[in-house]
Amino acid sequence: MDSAVAKLNEVEAQLGESEELIAARELVEQRKGEAHEIQGRQKSLDLDAEEARRKALEIEGRLYGGTVKNPKELEDLQADLSSLRSQLRKREDALLEVMLELEDAEKALAEAEAALAETEAAWRAEQDSLVQGQAALKGEIEVLEARRVGQVDGMDRAELSLYQTLRERRQGAAVAVVERGLCQGCRITLPMSVLQKARSGLGLVQCVSCERILLVN
Ligand SMILES: [Zn+2]
Repeated sequence: MDSAVAKLNEVEAQLGESEELIAARELVEQRKGEAHEIQGRQKSLDLDAEEARRKALEIEGRLYGGTVKNPKELEDLQADLSSLRSQLRKREDALLEVMLELEDAEKALAEAEAALAETEAAWRAEQDSLVQGQAALKGEIEVLEARRVGQVDGMDRAELSLYQTLRERRQGAAVAVVERGLCQGCRITLPMSVLQKARSGLGLVQCVSCERILLVN
């Protein structure tokens, strides 16, 4: 029963989300955030480029529309146009770089999502088997408990209380098997008188050293 309870505790400690699963999920969230941040930069560069293109068109219209005749004014417009075109080139270069960055980020996100799916599937299978193990152990413990209740019924109170005390004192092992005259609980050689008494089967006999109840097969 002790070993079944220990196994049950072990199984129950493993129920619930694993650190690996939590880490995999956090990585996906992190990668999503990274991709989102890059998309934001891409959008703002797109808008900037759009604005520069619109302004350039407007200046071109005035420059080649024939309405502006003043050479100084035309010169200024020409200067504005080249400055805008150079800005636009820079923005388009930056946009290309951001698009490459986004491609990498989306690839990393897809990898993290695949790893999460794999971790989750393995975790789910493990949890299913743990839940099955938990149910089996609970059933086993119930059967043992019923058997124990049946066996304890009618036992000598003093002997039962000695057994309980020893169980607490000796980490759950109140009984020691005797083999070739040795107590298997503490490995000492038992005196002949103790051995004979234990063999007789009359009453409980305790080891002279570790005090465990001796069981002679
Ligand atoms: Zn002993």
